[in-house]
Amino acid sequence: MANLEGRVALVTGAGRGIGRAIALRLARDGADVAVNYRGSEDAAREVVGAIENLGRRAACYQADVGDPAGCDAMLERVIADFGQVSILVNNAGIGSSGIGRPSITEATDEQVQLLLGANLLGPLHLCRALVPHLRQAERSDIVMISSIAAQTMGPRMGVYSITKAGLEALAHTLAKEEREHGVRVNIVAPGLVETDMGRNLISQLPGPDDMRERDAMSPFGYVCQPEDIAAAVAFLVSEDARYITNERITVNGGGF
Ligand code: NAP
Repeated sequence: MANLEGRVALVTGAGRGIGRAIALRLARDGADVAVNYRGSEDAAREVVGAIENLGRRAACYQADVGDPAGCDAMLERVIADFGQVSILVNNAGIGSSGIGRPSITEATDEQVQLLLGANLLGPLHLCRALVPHLRQAERSDIVMISSIAAQTMGPRMGVYSITKAGLEALAHTLAKEEREHGVRVNIVAPGLVETDMGRNLISQLPGPDDMRERDAMSPFGYVCQPEDIAAAVAFLVSEDARYITNERITVNGGGF
């Protein structure tokens, strides 16, 4: 198991879903964790409690990642509370199903702005604001939670795909720019994962909208779990991955 003792991770959207699993996994591996949430305050507090039960420090911070001023205020508080941050996981996001899967021509300006803000401009702002601080540590990591949609470019996924492709461009560029400062930047790209977003997506797709019915159709006989994504993130920020940057790990059971 990776030893992250002495490191502090900021995980966005960590009150539930994949972010929750990442926060808990990094804490299990030894990190203290700043738990960002937008609206799920009770869930975020539960994650903080679970991390504290693991013997690690945790606190939760409300901020909409699409709001730069809110992000700046959050970063200031996190650094004041923990003294440092050396892991940023840009996990918070809104799926295509979150806006009803419009086609490119159907999508409204508001829908485009909403997804761009949460999935791309928010992570871009957080990176720009936090990287000068991350450079101070001997080793820092940024992990972007992208999606296979950044490559599959499916119909009615277009706005989402654009944001995730942009997020990956950000990661690849930043990895090259920040290598000399010890900052590793990598991408984890899930396929369908069993979370609220995943459930919402399959309810809008052809085929069963019950995850257990989807298990048999899935690689290895089950729908990918948030913990499977968290394991890939834990590896990337671990000492074992110290020579890995600018990489993309697809966690999709090998595809369909
Ligand atoms: P989820 O169950 O819908 O949870 C979304 C999380 O993101 C929540 O914690 C939510 O916080 C947070 N969030 C959304 N917009 C936010 C904003 N503007 N500011 C701050 N937090 C915000 O989604 P998930 O499945 O865990 O997805 C996590 C990441 O994995 C996303 O980037 C998603 O695109 C990616 N992904 C998911 C799947 C899948 O099938 N589930 C597949 C590929 C990629 P609150 O609850 O506090 O509002």
